[in-house]
Amino acid sequence: MRSLIIANWKMNPQSLKGAKLLLNSVKRGIRNVKKVEVVICPPFPYLSSFKFPRSTPSSRRKGPGGRQVSSFKIGAQNCFWEKKGAFSGEISPSMLKNLGCKYVIIGHSERRRYLAETDEMINKKIRAALRAKLFPIFCIGENREQRDRGKTFDFLKSQILKGLEKIPKKEIKNIIFAYEPIWAVGTGKPCDFTETQIMGLFIRKTIGKLYTPRLAQKIRILYGGSVNSQNASDYIKEAKMDGLLIGAASLDAKEFVKLIKNLTLK
Ligand code: PEP
Repeated sequence: MRSLIIANWKMNPQSLKGAKLLLNSVKRGIRNVKKVEVVICPPFPYLSSFKFPRSTPSSRRKGPGGRQVSSFKIGAQNCFWEKKGAFSGEISPSMLKNLGCKYVIIGHSERRRYLAETDEMINKKIRAALRAKLFPIFCIGENREQRDRGKTFDFLKSQILKGLEKIPKKEIKNIIFAYEPIWAVGTGKPCDFTETQIMGLFIRKTIGKLYTPRLAQKIRILYGGSVNSQNASDYIKEAKMDGLLIGAASLDAKEFVKLIKNLTLK
């Protein structure tokens, strides 16, 4: 399966012009890249300008045997759980779907921290995203203190159980799990490959117990936290991650293109 690379631009760049420049540089840079699905998650105001037609040469390039070899998608950084109504400032999953989004990041640690998002809210958002046929990217991860106290597994398990409440078996393969230890996000101190692999196995085991081992094999698990062009491919090859969630490194077109290209080297 192709690696899934999610670029989380957060609240950047500051203008639509800057956003388009960044997007176009990345698109140009990875034109011929194979084996990777790249998803750009810009701030909401830029989404409509980034809409890719459902089937274009840039989003659905066919290989020699008709095989799709490279693709480029858009996603959002958040959504609300209701479909419509009096919820000032919120954006519904169906609005995102109508704008051409395929993915939506849910439960990012910055939103849990600054917007006080709870596991219950995150669960409602995941369910709403699934109803709108979006693929939720469900972020989980412990903070430094929980890690130091040896509470990582308990904490991750609790986030998974609460986040997946009332989500039926048939939907589980549509949820993408992003292991993002808070102490590694934006700090320049990534989680090492062995530990990341252990966390990936733990997440799969937890899903296996909650649903079935067979379904657990089908889910995709990403790693996020200070990934750059130098360490990215080891998360895929050594830590056996299905993809990556990238913050800072996705805002520098050269660095991001290098990161993607490094993933495709044998
Ligand atoms: C993130 O915010 O999801 C993230 C992984 O950020 P960074 O790559 O900058 O650590």
